[in-house]
Amino acid sequence: PPQTVLISGCSSGIGLELAVHLAHDPRQRYQVVATMRDLGKKETLEVAAGEALGKTLTVAQLDVCSDDSVSQCLSHIQGEVDVLVNNAGVGLVGPLEGLSIAAMQSVFDTNFFGAVRLVKAVLPGMKRRHRGHIVVVSSVMGLQGVMFNDVYAASKFALEGFFESLAIQLLQFNICVSLVEPGPVTTDFEGKLLAQVSTAEFPGTDPDSLGYFRDLYLPASRELFRSVGQSPQEVAQAIVKVISSTRPPLRRQTNARYIPLTALKAVDPSGSLYVRTAHRLLFHWPRLLSLGLRCLACGCLPKRVRPG
Ligand code: NAD
Repeated sequence: PPQTVLISGCSSGIGLELAVHLAHDPRQRYQVVATMRDLGKKETLEVAAGEALGKTLTVAQLDVCSDDSVSQCLSHIQGEVDVLVNNAGVGLVGPLEGLSIAAMQSVFDTNFFGAVRLVKAVLPGMKRRHRGHIVVVSSVMGLQGVMFNDVYAASKFALEGFFESLAIQLLQFNICVSLVEPGPVTTDFEGKLLAQVSTAEFPGTDPDSLGYFRDLYLPASRELFRSVGQSPQEVAQAIVKVISSTRPPLRRQTNARYIPLTALKAVDPSGSLYVRTAHRLLFHWPRLLSLGLRCLACGCLPKRVRPG
């Protein structure tokens, strides 16, 4: 029988692509429950699903921030969830002083507690049946901090710690956990963030930090999306591989170009190699651009930014 795969956040981006990919599996191994908070946005998914709609793909309402919504959604599914994909997520960028605690809590509510809420709901069934797979769309920012993404990175680090801990217990129940860590992906995600910051004033922030944010970070970030960004299709394909793998990995980065950066922490467990390199990459990036930012793209660090 096909495996039931429940995915959160399927109205756009990676979730939408993943739902469509799995629903079109040539071997029809998956029955996809593609969920979204607002069913008013289901048309793009339904068009992309085509003939799979109503067969290997159904659309359902699910707000990961609501207990009621989660229990209602699960009660509608006959049988149980074999594969859960925690994909729903939101971003938050900007200088810390200008962001409200409420905005930060809302990022954790969606990115962290949203995933925890879903896992609590599906875990009893998975444990009873002694099988299951929990996939989490984390980020390279779940592995390394990035300037002006403090809270978003913290929410992804929280997921990494939570699911690594859970993975140990779940081995005993034959349930796998996989954290997927994309680098930049060209979805609505970045556009929504940029729209947010274009109107935000970040009250209480000193002029230097505001300048670094607007004149350094934002252009560098745009350039990074342009030069090394992946498509949501590529990321969806990587997740399909993780789901269909006989021995799913605990961690899988989708963008090979990021591996040299994330490896810096393993090379220097004190952390200063990563922090100093990230600092130099950002604060000297206009100069690096003239040296060819391609170096970041092809995975090697330019000599001048090699610390030491
Ligand atoms: P996206 O904005 O297209 O998708 C995120 C989806 O989550 C949206 O459909 C949104 O409606 C949904 N969502 C938000 N709050 C929700 C809630 N309370 N309940 C249910 N759904 C909710 O962006 P994306 O890039 O496809 O993001 C998917 C995941 O990938 C996120 O977890 C994001 O953190 C992660 N990610 C994105 C990037 C990137 O650069 N785009 C990089 C690394 C990781």
